[in-house]
Amino acid sequence: TLDLIDVTKNYGIVTAIEPLSLSIGDGELVCLLGPSGSGKSTLLRIIGGFETLTAGRVLIDGVDVAFAPPEKRPTAMVFQSHALWQHMTVFENIAFGLKLRGFDKTEIRRKVETGLSLVGLQDYGGRHPAQLSGGQRQRVAIARCLVLEPKILLMDEPFASLDQHLRDRLREEVRQIQKTLGITTVFVTHGQDEAMSVADRIVVMSMGRIEQVGTPGDIYATPATPFVAGFIGDMN
Ligand code: ATP
Ligand code: MG
Repeated sequence: TLDLIDVTKNYGIVTAIEPLSLSIGDGELVCLLGPSGSGKSTLLRIIGGFETLTAGRVLIDGVDVAFAPPEKRPTAMVFQSHALWQHMTVFENIAFGLKLRGFDKTEIRRKVETGLSLVGLQDYGGRHPAQLSGGQRQRVAIARCLVLEPKILLMDEPFASLDQHLRDRLREEVRQIQKTLGITTVFVTHGQDEAMSVADRIVVMSMGRIEQVGTPGDIYATPATPFVAGFIGDMN
């Protein structure tokens, strides 16, 4: 379980996140949805440890990780793009984090192969990122996270650079993998349709605040604020 308690983030005089609290249960896929500048990435980066918070607590299974660096948290993050090391093969990219964690060669090979097959790239271990399509690169980025067996998978608009068709497909693949592994996932998007189709629950954000938390059905049928009604109403 992830518990954010009164999490606040200021950049100088700019308040990126107003004090907010949110709990995410095991195995849930929660979308952070909101317009540009609403604080989605900031909140995700706080959860992953890539951003310090100004105040508040971040609990993962009851343990406060608010001041732990990313590698000391049971989280892994898929970035929007440019996340793979160009000079390493796909295999090496995925193996890197496992080496750091001290796994031996045999175990690394086994885990990397499992990771690659989860994302349908079992024959691509020897390639370099430059020899992959955009979608394949993001699949590698996902596999690289999954092999670490994080409790929480964080994704910041992971498919934003891809075309609509591929984005839909990868989103469904992520949903399948996420359900199969039962991995708690926080997925940032500014696409209403994307959030509606993939989320167990949606957190609608605006100007660093949570406007509403609910299932896609709830949010669609009973928007809590005029902002949510307007934002969701923009879907079509
Ligand atoms: P987008 O959909 O465009 O990615 P977002 O919802 O992810 O937007 P954030 O990147 O979290 O928004 O930004 C939230 C607010 O914090 C914005 O007002 C932004 O300008 C501000 N902000 C973010 N990072 C910094 C920073 N390093 N320094 C100063 N202000 C920042
Ligand atoms: Mg962002």
